[in-house]
Amino acid sequence: MRKRILLLEDEQAIADTLLYALRSEGFDVRHLRLASEALDAFREQPPDLAILDVGVPDGSGFDVCRAIRKTSETPIVFLTARHEEIDRVLGLELGADDYVVKPFSPREVCARVRAILRRSAPLPQAAAPTASTPGPLLQLDEAAQRIRCGDDWLALTRYEFQLLATLLRRPERIFSRVELMDLVWGDALDTSDRTVDAHVKLLRAKLRARGVQGELIQTHRNMGYSIRVAD
Ligand code: CA
Repeated sequence: MRKRILLLEDEQAIADTLLYALRSEGFDVRHLRLASEALDAFREQPPDLAILDVGVPDGSGFDVCRAIRKTSETPIVFLTARHEEIDRVLGLELGADDYVVKPFSPREVCARVRAILRRSAPLPQAAAPTASTPGPLLQLDEAAQRIRCGDDWLALTRYEFQLLATLLRRPERIFSRVELMDLVWGDALDTSDRTVDAHVKLLRAKLRARGVQGELIQTHRNMGYSIRVAD
């Protein structure tokens, strides 16, 4: 069955490109321009996923998200104009599943929507035991700031740990290099795209040395990196 998506976006040009991209991918999209309309539409027919613009004429996508979250765990993706809003969006306060910062490419939005729907789909019974990262199991120990790979703890530098932990917290989520620089190297001076690439390379080598097969850390051209989960 076609997945239903609710789109709240007051700028017609942005809505049009998203509608076109999402519908081309086979999604059934309902587009609303006002927060109040979006909430009514959500209650009338709950979608499989909601895409919410933060700034709309009669309020905010944040309010819509809070209202939805009172009764529903439906995945929510925010369209935001500012990087500063990201912490709020993904934090406990709002509990959204993902966000994209304007200007974005419709392809990027589609990729994120597909990844979230894949993540939130119930696993078929028979497939459930294999649902993890391929190869030895990676386990993140937040309290002790370390990561287990199979039977051993990985020997990681501070930034290698932060980078791998960031990816592991949200499997399949694509992080751009800029986001990773913010999240992992936020307190460091002199970082660049190359810093991220170099650390990914080091991490891949360490994971390979521990028997992880294939590319667990995936490169997405012009978009960034993600952690793959087993099919
Ligand atoms: Ca807007």
